[in-house]
Amino acid sequence: MSIYGFNFPTPIRFGAGSRKEVGPHLLAQGFSRPLIVTDKGVAQQAFFAEFVALLQEQGLKPAVFDGIWGNPVKSQVLAGAAAFRAAESDAMIGIGGGAALDVAKAIGVCIHNPEDLFAYEDRPGALSIDQPIPYWVALPTTAGTGSEVGRSAVISDDQTHQKKIIFAPSLLARQVFADPELTLGLPPHITAATGMDALTHLVEAFLAQGYHPICDGIALEGMRLVQASLVQAVQEPGSLQARSDMLLASMMGAIAFQKGLGVVHSCAHALSTVADLHHGLANGIMINHALAFNAEAVPERFERMAATLGLEPSVEAFFHWIKALRAEIGIPHQLGAVKVGAEQLDALVEVALADACHASNPRICTREDFVQIFEGAF
Ligand SMILES: [Zn+2]
Repeated sequence: MSIYGFNFPTPIRFGAGSRKEVGPHLLAQGFSRPLIVTDKGVAQQAFFAEFVALLQEQGLKPAVFDGIWGNPVKSQVLAGAAAFRAAESDAMIGIGGGAALDVAKAIGVCIHNPEDLFAYEDRPGALSIDQPIPYWVALPTTAGTGSEVGRSAVISDDQTHQKKIIFAPSLLARQVFADPELTLGLPPHITAATGMDALTHLVEAFLAQGYHPICDGIALEGMRLVQASLVQAVQEPGSLQARSDMLLASMMGAIAFQKGLGVVHSCAHALSTVADLHHGLANGIMINHALAFNAEAVPERFERMAATLGLEPSVEAFFHWIKALRAEIGIPHQLGAVKVGAEQLDALVEVALADACHASNPRICTREDFVQIFEGAF
């Protein structure tokens, strides 16, 4: 029998109002000058100004870096690191969606690791991140990427737009404050797209190769939460119960995908690179087109997902559920609806094939297979 490693290291404070614990937590750890790392959208929300004011009332001297927008690029990270130094910060608070939290991690790398950020890219022969990362806490404001419990950051090159993955266990947030009230203001189309990203993480993690019954269990329960609450979160944005379920499902997806992801994510990464499509929307459109490719390899896994969701335990019932869910939350079924067509096929296949996610897919996916998956989705 082999010996396996399972890791679930992030302490999480979960619940409405948990953001109010951030200030006392940092003070208790001996920090008082946090740099708040966020994106332009979050910085304009009413809750953000209240959050900063509360930190000040609690006795901290926070500085704000909000120079993040779109897909994060290296120049944003460097600007954030400069802000950290200029404010003489001693810790960081990452607050936002996946982009802001990924930039916070990458700023952390830059503070004490002296080489160019991309010298630490996760690839053979790269430098290891061996200098400490400043203490940082994460507050997610979307329910999709689960970046708050992840140990990697995806940062693009400013010129080439090529995505680079920075990965190290030391990038993990030291504490997560998961406060569903921060997600109440998300508009329905973002709730739908990010929710489909969470669902894709859960499904692909469950299907991924490898032995990880703990992640499998987390993934199945996460799918049940998505089934219970994604439609309601889209249709009744103010439902704290639905928002709570989706925030948990999002973190459970990211915890589960330490096991691996698969072809859906490779297709979605290609769609973001080639057509600038939103990551969650790309997953939401591709999920059943790409998963159909897996069904014949591991039908029993699809039957277990269907059974967990209270459906007839069959491959067909699972796909029927995904299509019905997508229709209810307004995610299109085909790429034509987002103006992606066959003229982009070669570029899409090129990026998808080079993407690392499908290495853990339960079925080997060749160039020809990616061609067929995309052709079925146009
Ligand atoms: Zn994803």
